[in-house]
Amino acid sequence: MIMKMANPFSGLSEAVEENVALKPFTWYKIGGPARWFIRPRNVEELQEASKRCLENNIPVYVLGLGANLLVSDEGVNGAVFRLDHEFWRRVKFDKTSVEMGAGVDMQKLIVRTVRQGLAGIECLAGIPGTVGGGIRMNAGGKFGDFGAVVQKVHVMADDGTLFERTKDDLVFEYRSTNIAARFILGATIELEEDDPDRIMKRTKEIWMYKRNTQPLNTKNCGCIFKNPRGLSAGALIDQAGLKGFKVGGAEVSEKHANFIVAHPGCSASDVMKLVKIIREKVFEKNEIHLESEVQIWP
Ligand SMILES: Cc1cc2nc3c(=O)[nH]c(=O)nc-3n(C[C@H](O)[C@H](O)[C@H](O)COP(=O)(O)OP(=O)(O)OC[C@H]3O[C@@H](n4cnc5c(N)ncnc54)[C@H](O)[C@@H]3O)c2cc1C
Repeated sequence: MIMKMANPFSGLSEAVEENVALKPFTWYKIGGPARWFIRPRNVEELQEASKRCLENNIPVYVLGLGANLLVSDEGVNGAVFRLDHEFWRRVKFDKTSVEMGAGVDMQKLIVRTVRQGLAGIECLAGIPGTVGGGIRMNAGGKFGDFGAVVQKVHVMADDGTLFERTKDDLVFEYRSTNIAARFILGATIELEEDDPDRIMKRTKEIWMYKRNTQPLNTKNCGCIFKNPRGLSAGALIDQAGLKGFKVGGAEVSEKHANFIVAHPGCSASDVMKLVKIIREKVFEKNEIHLESEVQIWP
């Protein structure tokens, strides 16, 4: 007799789908499906679904805009949560303080804060992602980072416990934070009043800089490697003669060597092979081990 396994998410069918392609939800547009794809419509649904994962030993992943992500061709044999329901996209202004859900798109947030005459997140111009992903990765660059304006972060542990992390105990470092909880649910940031035209001018300048230095209109996942202390990963890859180097449909960008561009037909395994070659060549030349910035699932 064949025993059919009970659905671990029974009663949550409005929020849970099975075997969902993740490709369309990533910037790269490559990679396999998720065994479970969960889009909770509120905190209670998120708590319940997360508890079910814990009880059933289902590995959990949290997806933002998939802008810093490489999903393997086999996909993810676990539950991928995406906080994209309008509940997670709310934004509330209170003078210079802005409270928002984790699903808010960072680029749309910049537009809204500029209109309100609030400065402080122009440094995120041209960085695709959600507030959740932006905080988890402490998104930013030479013009500043997200962590600098964060006052409070609402988080949730796997067992559904909700708590707050505040500025005094938060540490934001280069592409990382000390937030250990699995889920970032929302945040409050503190901005500064300024003239909207001036903020817009600054935002445009930063965006132009990014457009001129990064292959923004290609399929990629941002920087593949973190910059080693005091050095540029892109320059090291360039010096190793790898600009334009290809494996299958994956190519080291000619514009910025720390980006791997996916051409039509590219697989996640093409990107992984290229990542390995880059690491080996840079190590051969400089004895420097490049650490991944991109998150690789599983
Ligand atoms: C063209 C391009 C340019 C880029 N330029 C930059 C740049 O200049 N600077 C920079 O810092 N980054 C850059 N990136 C990378 C990317 O934009 C950032 O890392 C961004 O913050 C990712 O956000 P996301 O919502 O897409 O997260 P995802 O890529 O979906 O996820 C990234 C990580 O965050 C976690 N995560 C996402 N949401 C949540 C949540 N709600 N709770 C808990 N964890 C969560 C994921 O589990 C994963 O570990 C670039 C990417 C692209 C495609």
